[in-house]
Amino acid sequence: MAYETVIGLEVHVQLNTHSKAFCADDTSFGGEPNTQVSVVSLGHPGTLPKANGQQIALATRLGLALGCKINQRTTFDRKNYFYADLPKGYQITQDQRPICVGGDLDIKMGDAWKSIRIHHIHMEEDAGKSIHTLAPKHSFIDLNRAGTPLLEIVTEPDLRSGEEVDAFMTAMRQLVRYLEVSDGNMEQGSLRCDVNISVRPHGQTSYNDRCEVKNVNSMKFARQAIDYEVKRQIKIMENGGKVKQQTLNFDPNTGVTSPLREKEDAHDYRYFPEPDLPPVVLSDAYLNNTNQALPQLPKAAYNELTQKYQLSDYDASILVEDRETLLYFQGLIQHTSNYKAAANLIINRLLPWKQENKSTLSTFPVPSTSLAALIALVEEGKVNSTAAYQNILNALITKPDQAPLALAQEMNLIQSADSDFLSDLAKEVIAQFPDKVKEYQKGKKGLIGFFMGELMKKSKGKADPKASTEILQQLLK
Ligand code: ADP
Ligand code: MG
Repeated sequence: MAYETVIGLEVHVQLNTHSKAFCADDTSFGGEPNTQVSVVSLGHPGTLPKANGQQIALATRLGLALGCKINQRTTFDRKNYFYADLPKGYQITQDQRPICVGGDLDIKMGDAWKSIRIHHIHMEEDAGKSIHTLAPKHSFIDLNRAGTPLLEIVTEPDLRSGEEVDAFMTAMRQLVRYLEVSDGNMEQGSLRCDVNISVRPHGQTSYNDRCEVKNVNSMKFARQAIDYEVKRQIKIMENGGKVKQQTLNFDPNTGVTSPLREKEDAHDYRYFPEPDLPPVVLSDAYLNNTNQALPQLPKAAYNELTQKYQLSDYDASILVEDRETLLYFQGLIQHTSNYKAAANLIINRLLPWKQENKSTLSTFPVPSTSLAALIALVEEGKVNSTAAYQNILNALITKPDQAPLALAQEMNLIQSADSDFLSDLAKEVIAQFPDKVKEYQKGKKGLIGFFMGELMKKSKGKADPKASTEILQQLLK
């Protein structure tokens, strides 16, 4: 029987705020354990939480970018459970009236876009970290993370494969980075997800019970967990069994999922309205201002690059990958209308430069006006593209104030279209390869490329290719 995989995600995004969700503790990553804490994050009696305006602003920003409806009156709730890394004994979250509902994120699968619906987004705080691996009989608790502001984005079960999950998480990371909502760093846990997986026979319209794999912090692990779970669930069904709803842990070392606990009922958490925080009310003006301050979003930028500037899917996808590259491209084409050449230059030279130097494009030494001048030199046939984008560009990187044309002259790289010079070279080539000339004259016209290559070598790269080709064709007749 053929089966279909059904997946819904609960994505946790750690926000780019300076301080925690309900107190002023520092949220930076990597501090000495238990140094970024206070009486509030330690849950001392008598302390009171205070909502963080920045958390609300970032949640609104992300919600508007995803086309969500924003609840202009949004409330906090308590989710109660006992664990050593949760000193208060409850987590402040949103249950009844989350800040955002609905909306969607489009992912690109091959040539087609697919829309993944968002169920809702709510604000919450993170718990501390328990470390069980440092000593055989003891666990350690680091509360630096306790109270860190998070958003949880819950999708509808619209995803159908590991590839789609990968595409969704990649698009979400790209979006939160564009919006400067989060650094989106999966390795540091700023972006992680719970993956809900079920399998159903093809054609069945209702969903089967799902299993939830907790806290997946890499795309690779997500795919492995999905692969494993799908096989496991199909096997149960093929044997006439029924998949039990469960919470699972995925072990990256073995590639296997194992039960964490049976699904707890929602009321086990005894959600109730947070009495210490008033509702948050967002005005129309607040939403309008937030909306107007949104940057161009990745999909809109992709459409602009492929439609208005006629770039390929490949080029556009690379240029919109992060906002810095997009802005750099948009800046460069203020000075040249050769969009393809501008894209090539960024993709083939600037991005590798950035990678090698572990740097940013904004610190690339050569100004955009000089890059545009370089593109013009090639267009006008004054220098060939290797000379421009290798020799001259390399020289410019060390001498960024020089004019590209002056450098080309200084480096003796100006191409020659001078017909006496070119026909002397062409005659030399023809005299040197009489056999090839015969073949050419018998009809092997493809050899023109060979003659051209030889001529170019003799000119030390300075022959104008178009003029040379014409002269060669003339002499070979
Ligand atoms: P809760 O965790 O409160 O029970 P939901 O049941 O609404 O919440 O769903 C939580 C997540 O599980 C959502 O991301 C949703 O898309 C996903 N999900 C729900 N049902 C299924 C299913 N049958 N198969 C796969 N994923 C599912
Ligand atoms: Mg859940």
